[in-house]
Amino acid sequence: MRLFLALEPPDDLRERLATLADLAQARCGGRRMPDASLHLTLAFLGEVDEGRLSALVEWVGCQAPTGGIWRLDRWGSFRRPGNVWVGGRTHDPALDALQAGLWNGLEALGLGVRPTRFVPHVTLLRRAERMAIGPLEAQAPVALDWRWQRLTLLRSYTEQDGARYKALAHSA
Ligand code: ATP
Ligand code: MG
Repeated sequence: MRLFLALEPPDDLRERLATLADLAQARCGGRRMPDASLHLTLAFLGEVDEGRLSALVEWVGCQAPTGGIWRLDRWGSFRRPGNVWVGGRTHDPALDALQAGLWNGLEALGLGVRPTRFVPHVTLLRRAERMAIGPLEAQAPVALDWRWQRLTLLRSYTEQDGARYKALAHSA
């Protein structure tokens, strides 16, 4: 099963992100992320054997992130898959520490492969037809605070119109 660890936005922030996703789709075309799927990936594990799941779920339940406030203040894109996202202009030390700490634990469990870099972002659009990041910055400057604390272990299912996620476990 395909798994990843993420932060899920509180409802009011989810609504604001959804509004930005609508604007992005109007400008750039492509496939808008469903509201329920909006998230910040901290660790992508990829395929994990079902036999490893109970230990992973237990480990996630033992995590107790101190939490923080992530400032979202920029539009961005990954050109190759055509993703349009929002994120921060500067590194967020608390998120960096959370991500690094999680990978220490995942490596000890022998799960996943730690990436060489971490660019925290919330994908709003996939397979954009036009990369109009400049116009989006001008039309809708991003200025959002994400109060985060709890982690979610998510399973990703491939559907015809894109992935769908299901929460399997939460941290404290
Ligand atoms: P799709 O791949 O169908 O477009 P998706 O990217 O939302 O949909 P997944 O590929 O299962 O679904 O990815 C789940 C999460 O993990 C997403 O946030 C995605 O950006 C991230 N992710 C996927 N592959 C990797 C990878 N190789 N390295 C880092 N993060 C990844
Ligand atoms: Mg993907």
